[in-house]
Amino acid sequence: MFCGFIRTHCYKVAIAALAALVFLEYGFGVFYDERGRINEAYFTFNLTAPRLWGGLQNSSDVSYSATSNMTLIALQSSNSSDPYQLDLLVDSLNFTGKPLMCPLVSPLLVGRTNVSKIAMPMEAFQEKYSPLLGPGGRYRPPDCHAHYKVAIIIPYRKREEHLQLFIQHMHPFLQRQQIDYGIFVVEQSGDTPFNRAMLMNIGAAEALRQDEFQCFVFHDVDLLPEDDRNTYSCPEQPRHMSVAIDVFKYRLPYEGLFGGVSAMTTEHFIKVNGFSNLFWGWGGEDDDMSSRIKYHKLIISRYPPSTARYTMLSHKKARPNPNRYRVMRNGARRSKVDGLSNLKYKRIELEMKPLYIHILVSIKPS
Ligand code: UDP
Ligand code: MN
Repeated sequence: MFCGFIRTHCYKVAIAALAALVFLEYGFGVFYDERGRINEAYFTFNLTAPRLWGGLQNSSDVSYSATSNMTLIALQSSNSSDPYQLDLLVDSLNFTGKPLMCPLVSPLLVGRTNVSKIAMPMEAFQEKYSPLLGPGGRYRPPDCHAHYKVAIIIPYRKREEHLQLFIQHMHPFLQRQQIDYGIFVVEQSGDTPFNRAMLMNIGAAEALRQDEFQCFVFHDVDLLPEDDRNTYSCPEQPRHMSVAIDVFKYRLPYEGLFGGVSAMTTEHFIKVNGFSNLFWGWGGEDDDMSSRIKYHKLIISRYPPSTARYTMLSHKKARPNPNRYRVMRNGARRSKVDGLSNLKYKRIELEMKPLYIHILVSIKPS
């Protein structure tokens, strides 16, 4: 009836609404379903991109991060949805005389422990740990304010058993260190050669869309730290963490090694333009990062092998990529144009699981 009068206008409005929906869906990927999954969208690396999922959507979401009554009440009565503002709010509670920053050495550390290679049923683990965790398995120490926000980035495909063990090992381990952390599992879809480095670039980009992480730990899923004095933070220089691995008789295989587990501040990671996107298949990407680090006058640092110890879970050895030496040539100079600056990927799904953030992506050579 109404349309009968202004049919042309209705038509235009309908077209405009449809265009807006398509733009929102493909430009920003803002639609997510009730299980906390964000649907398919295309992305590049963009530091100024709006955070689509703040992690902390409203004040009730943050209650897991505060046990001190004073802090809890203040957080609950605030309407701020910005995690950074909430941090400032926590800081402003200093005058209460409650402990504010976590101590430099956590009192919860136990030192060297045996690493279990037998996972408990995931449901049982989840039941025990998810009450301590925020959406996507995000953790903040309950009694003090952590020094850093650390994003643990796991490149992943078809290692389900390892992932279970990893998740079950890392939550208690990181919580003993009183770290504010999120675990991002970035899974490559399809059967194209695995690109570990590109998945790490994607993990960093996705983490920064969620929160102001100051530190990245890039972590193979099959390496489990044995000693919680091996702190998961980013010191002043890029840090190679998996110094002493059981299968290598706890000895560093070679000096320039940056593979396995390594940590870099967000600032340094952006400075070196992230990892190269050109390493398809096994090998080379970590050495390429070593040369980026040197080229930018940074130094690889390490903690002593007595604490930087890891147990490696066993798997079939991958066939090395025979092209890796060719790609590595001119690596340092190429670093300007190959990395975060030309990263492109299709995010098939982002799911805030109870114990970690799962990001399924489709990638291809550009
Ligand atoms: N990876 C994976 N699926 C694969 C290949 C690699 O999840 O098919 C990830 C996983 O995190 C693994 C890391 O990439 O720990 C390094 O690969 P891999 O373990 O094969 O390397 P290696 O231990 O031989 O250096
Ligand atoms: Mn491995």
